[in-house]
Amino acid sequence: MTSPLMNVYARAPLAFVKGEGPWLTSREGGEPYLDCVAGVASNALGHCHPALVAALTEQGNMLWHVSNMFQVPGQDALAARLTDACFADTVFFANTGTEAVECAIKVARRYHAARGDAQRQTIIGFHGAFHGRTYGALNAAGNAAHLDGFGAPMPGFVHLSPDDRASLAAEIADPATAAVLIEPVQGEGGARAMTRGFLESLRAACTSAGVLLIYDEVQSGMGRTGQLFAHQWFPGTDPDIMAVAKALGSGLPVAACLATTEAASGMQPGGHGSTFGGNPLAMAVAIAAFDEIAKSETLEHARALSEHLRGSLDALVAGWPGVMVEVRGKGLLIGLKLAVNNRAFIAAAREQRLLVAGGGGNIVRLLPPLTMSFAEADGVVARLDATCAAMAAAEIAA
Ligand code: PMP
Repeated sequence: MTSPLMNVYARAPLAFVKGEGPWLTSREGGEPYLDCVAGVASNALGHCHPALVAALTEQGNMLWHVSNMFQVPGQDALAARLTDACFADTVFFANTGTEAVECAIKVARRYHAARGDAQRQTIIGFHGAFHGRTYGALNAAGNAAHLDGFGAPMPGFVHLSPDDRASLAAEIADPATAAVLIEPVQGEGGARAMTRGFLESLRAACTSAGVLLIYDEVQSGMGRTGQLFAHQWFPGTDPDIMAVAKALGSGLPVAACLATTEAASGMQPGGHGSTFGGNPLAMAVAIAAFDEIAKSETLEHARALSEHLRGSLDALVAGWPGVMVEVRGKGLLIGLKLAVNNRAFIAAAREQRLLVAGGGGNIVRLLPPLTMSFAEADGVVARLDATCAAMAAAEIAA
């Protein structure tokens, strides 16, 4: 039977009907699955966290949506939490990561235009980046496979390797450059963490050239790395603008573009907008999620869980040299570089009732809920071990 759904996803043959914490029950029933996809790093608090369910049902009985023609009280409350917790002074609410990135690009270009520097339009992006599927975000990332067949590449974007320091310095010094856009930890590109030294030098170069620094923390933000935002591991590397989404709503679609007053100084009424952005339902859930994630206990647990997992994963890699190559990433944005095909590994992991995500450079990503227990994490490692055994046996048989 042909599906009425547009043919854009290579979906696993699995449908889930219920979730609790890191566990998912499939339509067929049986043993639950241990979830290290977590809605692609969105369900930071696991499935059906009681505080989020309470916020959703309470707001659902009050008011869902009014549009930004009116004031939305929850927006001030969430924006205040966000700006109190980081470099930013001001927030625009959107619905998805790609929209937060679009807003960031617009804020940066408008900043220069409003200062009479309209020729500053170029956005510098990086190989391996992923910023979403709208045209601006696609062009900012410059992934040829994602752009193929979708028309001419847009002008105003350049793409560099983070290792090509000479080209980066030259592009930042170019008077046509508006901003640098980077994920402090690349997610889809393969769990690649930028170093302290690199982010420090990027910050310094942008400041001295009058170029804005934009972080895409859609995946790395909201506790994923064990700090509220990944760049906060490195004091002094604050951006001017930042895109946040995924775990911000912890499963409900909501996103934000954060900026300093200075960086947002070109934005005016009519300059940007969204029908649903920051609606009361999204704000109620996101406030509840923020209050859980930003707790020091949650972030401390995420850091401890990361260390615990790292130790076991290093041992696993050492024990299965024909299957795994290395562990990388930061916090609970973990990449396992494989010697075997990552798609085959992901399918084999499902046989062990473990869900993991793919990533660039033949990695699998582990993105467990921040709230996963140590015992559950040990269950993840045991299932990975069994998956490695199955993969090794299949290699020998092949
Ligand atoms: N930026 C990054 C770093 C992402 O990981 C993603 C999603 N994987 C996006 C942007 C796009 O987010 P969305 O799918 O919500 O538009």
